[in-house]
Amino acid sequence: MIEKEQNYEYQQKNVADYGHDNSPPSIIIHHTAGNQNATHADVLVNFQSWTRRGYHYIIHGNGEIYQSVQEHSMSWGAKNQNSNRVHISLMGHFENEHPTQAQINSAGQLIADIRRRRNIPYSRVFTH
Ligand SMILES: [Zn+2]
Repeated sequence: MIEKEQNYEYQQKNVADYGHDNSPPSIIIHHTAGNQNATHADVLVNFQSWTRRGYHYIIHGNGEIYQSVQEHSMSWGAKNQNSNRVHISLMGHFENEHPTQAQINSAGQLIADIRRRRNIPYSRVFTH
């Protein structure tokens, strides 16, 4: 079950609008470098200071998946790494703590689903 942000296309451009995208689709895994127990509200407050949403999906410490941007829209997750990328971020700071088992399970299911739908091999799943 994926909870979707209200108006989750807010301020996002379709990838096609950029007109220069020949890169193969890839999945990029991030951590938020923040509180593992942050709420949706915390995330939204954070996002208000960003020009664009950084992640398509955020996975909470309890395993809930929160979709912030449609996959066909571009999110700005990494410099020069946004065309044709699906950005997924796990809440937490993994230099100091580990992802929870619930996060690992949800991430595994989500990544498998995206890979199947978009025909993305493991070799194009990266961490950032
Ligand atoms: Zn990152």
